[in-house]
Amino acid sequence: MRELVVYNTLSRRKEKFEALHAPNVGMYVCGPTVYGDPHLGHARPAITFDVLFRTLSAMGYKVRYVRNITDVGHLEHDADEGEDKIAKKARLEQLEPMEIAHHYTLRYQEAMRALNVLPPSIEPQASGHIIEQIALIEKILEAGFAYVSDGSVYFDIEKYNREHHYGRLSGRVVEDMLANTRALDGQGQKRNPLDFALWKRAEPEHIMRWPSPWGEGFPGWHLECSAMGMKYLGETFDIHGGGLDLMFPHHECEIAQSQAACGHSAVRYWMHNNLITIDGQKMGKSLGNFITLEELFHGSHAKLEQPYSPMTIRFFALQAHYRSTLDFSNAALQAAEKGMERLLSAVRELEGVSAGKQSSWDVTAFEEKCWAPLMDDLNTPILIANLFDGAKAIGRLARGEESLTADDLTKLRELYHLMVFEILGLQGDGASVESGKALEAAMGIVLDYRAASKSQKDYATADRIRDALKGAGIEVQDRPDGATWKLS
Ligand code: ZN
Repeated sequence: MRELVVYNTLSRRKEKFEALHAPNVGMYVCGPTVYGDPHLGHARPAITFDVLFRTLSAMGYKVRYVRNITDVGHLEHDADEGEDKIAKKARLEQLEPMEIAHHYTLRYQEAMRALNVLPPSIEPQASGHIIEQIALIEKILEAGFAYVSDGSVYFDIEKYNREHHYGRLSGRVVEDMLANTRALDGQGQKRNPLDFALWKRAEPEHIMRWPSPWGEGFPGWHLECSAMGMKYLGETFDIHGGGLDLMFPHHECEIAQSQAACGHSAVRYWMHNNLITIDGQKMGKSLGNFITLEELFHGSHAKLEQPYSPMTIRFFALQAHYRSTLDFSNAALQAAEKGMERLLSAVRELEGVSAGKQSSWDVTAFEEKCWAPLMDDLNTPILIANLFDGAKAIGRLARGEESLTADDLTKLRELYHLMVFEILGLQGDGASVESGKALEAAMGIVLDYRAASKSQKDYATADRIRDALKGAGIEVQDRPDGATWKLS
């Protein structure tokens, strides 16, 4: 098996990936809170960890990929205070919270399908795992790292930090965090402003509520991922992923919860994708640059000069390393669109190349050149650059300037198929191939008709056809052996 190196956010260095129970790999990625249309911010982690899922699978691992749906307990402020995001949307739209959650879960899944993001092995919902979350709170209480206060249960940061380091993932220190925290309203039940809710008592107007040993309430947001990760992947599993924005407090709290409940951390490799910007700015509703995926696919946002296909978005995201920020702009997306078309047309061109007697190009070396960046912490931009280099060589093969034996040609086709479609997850533009063939056939008929006019000395008709085609963006060239055409 090839050797994969990944950057572990916890150790802050690249580490050789070793699966705990090879060939099985357990991977957990934080999914969306389903209260609004999926947007660009959802696309990046989904695409990043989809490529990791695909890469591990191509390496021969059997991956159990869990990506959750947050449909309860994600509050508006500091994740832990204010109104529940889904309940609020339900109140505004006069719907059941579960109608909101279901509607936006479907929208999310639809957008992911369009982006050719493979569905995870399990997509559990927080609301379906209340029992597991209550059991986990009981374990944390028993271990002495939480306390009950007025029907709510809070994680005891001070106690925890005496034995473990709260903040080790994000590189924070409790004393500094405390110095920067001002006491907020509603924190009266907490012993320490850094304490976070494991369970919240439901106020009378709070509609999403469940019975518990501490009275009616609902789980804290950070708890679900610990509970569901543990349930489906075990007390220790290989990879936990998510966006950099989740590192603190969400993932930091997850680490504390597992450590407190099990006496050890749950995750071996923490991986975080960096965030996106739009024209260099953070995406936000107040900045008028909050773009949903549907708006992007249809070009229906004031910031967009044209629609961008889901594959253009995907290709664009993969042209940056997942740990770098990714800046969206019309110019960058248009360049990605052209680049992707060039790559896909090289794959099509490769299909038409015929084998030679000998190979003038080392396909085995090229294969290694493609795998190497992928194995180096999923360096997709370098992989794509190498595939573009290969595309130039494919051009030389097609023009007969280079040649490959039948075996090497098969190997090269399989390599492009694997890298472009299976791992990068791009979809071949079948539609444009089909319409290309249809255009080819139609132009044959038109040019035959024009040739017939000319042979009857009806030059007016022949010229009219030529001019009309020119108006339609097709240039006809008359040659001694007949007319040819190209798109102008
Ligand atoms: Zn999570």
